Amino acid sequence: MTQKKPSIHERMMQLRNSFMESIPTRLSTARIALTALEKEQDQLSYIKQLHHTFHSIKGNAASFTLDDLSLLAKQGEEILIAAIEGAQQLTPVEVQSIASLIEVISYKVDNGDLLLGRNKPFPGQPLQMEKQPKSRGSVEERKRRKRIYICDDDSEQISELANQLDCFGYDLSTFTTQQQLEVAIDRQPPEVIIMDIVFPDSERNGLEWASEFNQKQKPPIPIIYISGRDDFSARMRAVKSGGIAYCLKPLKPPVLLELLDEFTNQTPPEPLKVMIVDDEKDVALYHSMLLEEAGMITTIVTQPELVIQRLTEFNADLVLMDLYMPLHNGPDLALLLRQIPGYVSLPIIYLSSETDSQRQLTAMAAGADGFLTKPVHAPTLIQEIKLRGERMRLLRSFMIRDSLTGLLNHTTIKERLAAEVSNASRRQSQLCFAMIDIDHFKQVNDTYGHPVGDQVILALSRLLQQRMRGSDAVGRYGGEEFAMVLTDISGENALKLLESLRLEFSSINFYANEMEFSCTFSCGYTLYPQWLSANTMTEAADRALYRAKHEGRNRIESLIPDPEELS
Ligand code: GH3
Ligand code: MG
Ligand code: MG
Repeated sequence: MTQKKPSIHERMMQLRNSFMESIPTRLSTARIALTALEKEQDQLSYIKQLHHTFHSIKGNAASFTLDDLSLLAKQGEEILIAAIEGAQQLTPVEVQSIASLIEVISYKVDNGDLLLGRNKPFPGQPLQMEKQPKSRGSVEERKRRKRIYICDDDSEQISELANQLDCFGYDLSTFTTQQQLEVAIDRQPPEVIIMDIVFPDSERNGLEWASEFNQKQKPPIPIIYISGRDDFSARMRAVKSGGIAYCLKPLKPPVLLELLDEFTNQTPPEPLKVMIVDDEKDVALYHSMLLEEAGMITTIVTQPELVIQRLTEFNADLVLMDLYMPLHNGPDLALLLRQIPGYVSLPIIYLSSETDSQRQLTAMAAGADGFLTKPVHAPTLIQEIKLRGERMRLLRSFMIRDSLTGLLNHTTIKERLAAEVSNASRRQSQLCFAMIDIDHFKQVNDTYGHPVGDQVILALSRLLQQRMRGSDAVGRYGGEEFAMVLTDISGENALKLLESLRLEFSSINFYANEMEFSCTFSCGYTLYPQWLSANTMTEAADRALYRAKHEGRNRIESLIPDPEELS
């Protein structure tokens, strides 16, 4: 019988043990430095040595979830940082504190008296879950994987991280020295560098290396700094040396994923969408041209009575509205929009030749956000609209998104489905609506605890998000339920996509409480134009999902309408 390869968790445990075994030696070095420091003139170099010892114990301990140990080391580190930054000597009280910390740590390590963080055992039943063979995607997919380099002198710590990132399409290569990293970058530059700030064996710390190195790169490579230090001056230095982010150790995969997604996404941010409402077509066209020139997308509505319908389809970030129109004027239209729940906060800017400030104010009172006077200076128009549109997008994202996953919330994904059905019917295109529910999720919570359940929800939401194209939408429909609106897709391709998501999700390994587990989901989907309305699509997708659960879970089902139902 071949021996089973140790799981990541077992490897992590081994690493944690070997780190624990290394502590007595580290402490002896610290004791020697402390004695020398009391005798010698040149205190600074010994303070730095001590700092490195405390710093690395703190960081390693935190990564291995030895919270108690990490906190103790942090206390020492803080005393030493203050001395280094103030170029001061240690006071006798501080020397005493460091000496005590060394002895307390030593005592705790010898006696195994350390508080574990996340690894506290959890009561519960072992999970019964079907396991899929690992699927890591085709060769094509591997090619699309994004290259990330990480440089950290504690390379063992990041092996688990590399594994988790791998599930999300990132290829993480690790380097322990800046020289190795430079060679690799020369050969093939990565999309993002993750850089530890403190390097014991190097003349330069990570920040110095990065700012110097990146000056030679055209364009510079985004750098995420990682560090055990959470103080203002370290963060400030990171900003100054061109870092795009600063993450505290231990690295949390969701946080890192968020950053990597943001900085490896080559597609530029979506252009602002502006609806221009003006009864004079030529005026509207002129403004539309100016805004499109500035990279925005516009649509023109010359009949106010069509505004509501067009807003549903166009999903505008902002409305630029003429004040006086023959049948319905701007303020009435603004009031009307404000009475529709989805448009309460849609920015409306009037564009008019009205120069009387009293009348301008009266018009604004109807719920508009700005007033531009015609003829408007083109740069002012563009700037005003960019500013308000972007602010609004940010605010709106808080209202329409779920706070845990960042996916669209229940109401919004339903609205998107309605809008896309209307788009598809106008453009005679196809559409898919899919509902996904994690299988036996209650057991995950019961066995590993709610926070681990949240990680599973996050992992699935990231996976779904990554597979979306620009016009698709994905939402959190409920606790462990998700919904997707896939536009311009055939039934065959929809099923292919959903199947690949199902396989990929089931191949993600989760680690919790010294156990390794995986999850599956069930899915029900429907297609437009087989079903003709958002309501019937939703209802039938729900029934298909129910069938998938009933027929054994970890499967995908679809429903087509009964011919009799249609007639
Ligand atoms: P089935 O395969 O039939 O879907 O079984 P299930 O256990 O997944 O379904 P059930 O609806 O019985 O349980 C869903 C559980 O999801 C119950 C609820 O506590 C949990 N849940 C809902 N929202 C969250 C959340 O945000 N975080 C976590 N961790 N759990 C959640
Ligand atoms: Mg459910
Ligand atoms: Mg479920």
